Amino acid sequence: NEEDPFKVENSKVSVAVRVRPFSNREKNEETFPVVSMTGQETVVQHPDTKQAYSFIYDFSFWSFDKCHPNFASQETVYRTLTVPLLRRAFDGYNICLFAYGQTGSGKSYTMMGYSEEQGIIPRFCEDLFTQIAHTETQQVSFHLEMSYFEVYNEKIHDLLVFRAENGPKKHPLRVREHPVFGPYCWLELGNKQRATAATGMNDKSSRSHSVFTLVMTQTKTEIIEEEEHDRTIISHINLIDLAGSERCSATRTSGERLKEGVSINKSLLTLGKVISALSEQSQSRRRAFIPYRESVLTWLLKESLGGNSKTAMIATVSPAASNVEETLSTLRYAKQAC
Ligand code: ADP
Repeated sequence: NEEDPFKVENSKVSVAVRVRPFSNREKNEETFPVVSMTGQETVVQHPDTKQAYSFIYDFSFWSFDKCHPNFASQETVYRTLTVPLLRRAFDGYNICLFAYGQTGSGKSYTMMGYSEEQGIIPRFCEDLFTQIAHTETQQVSFHLEMSYFEVYNEKIHDLLVFRAENGPKKHPLRVREHPVFGPYCWLELGNKQRATAATGMNDKSSRSHSVFTLVMTQTKTEIIEEEEHDRTIISHINLIDLAGSERCSATRTSGERLKEGVSINKSLLTLGKVISALSEQSQSRRRAFIPYRESVLTWLLKESLGGNSKTAMIATVSPAASNVEETLSTLRYAKQAC
């Protein structure tokens, strides 16, 4: 039903900001903090103009020091932002979570993390499997399909396909539109060999979007008039570490680098437009034009972003004066999604 207000309401986007501690480099260059946080408000004081910029998001996470009232551990970030999404997935909604920010601001720390500092993806998977184990009965069964791919220069590459160091060039996957489930990736069936997630962690990772997707199918068997009927609920779960948001620098003026910069800008710009159109739509409760087709990433996520879905974004920023321009541009980007 096109006019179903409940359906439109679900496209409300939750937006969070996370400030990381100083990096060693920032400590060495003796920069100073320009970001502060009180409750839901994040303020950036420009070191040159002294102008203060204020931003309010749904959630504000501070990692700069542990004594701050907004201090949030990996566990807190996961519980606050992602557990509600997990619940929605079990209710049959599609979900999307994006990490947005400049390279080095904490996107992969937030999404993946490491060892005891596990990020959102491993925590989410663990909870998902625990919940499946608790929910599975003779009447309810689950089926999961997983994919992990990167979008680089508007092309999709499977990250679960084994590739030798100097091996043959990967064939980009093609996006096809499925009549029922919407756009999806045709994973290369022949190649079953899985590499570790490290495949994607080469120097290119800051210039590509990595998309971790689970398709969860719940089959519920109901007995109606003494006959068994199966009802299936399908949820698409997308956890996305976006390409570094830094704008094309003047040195990136030709060849591959230019192409890369243009395609990163295009996909991040389109994603911003899509999320903000969805957000506007949820506030006005009127259908709007959503430009999914303007980039591969948004087209691929079309079914998971609009309508029957729940989207969240976490903007990650550095606290340092030396990164103030990128921090402001990240915070403005995140603001348009609220
Ligand atoms: P990105 O993925 O945005 O390029 P990373 O996640 O690799 O950035 O983060 C850069 C560095 O900062 C890493 O060494 C990471 O461990 C550290 N870091 C990032 N965010 C945090 C945080 N919230 N708390 C502690 N360390 C962090």
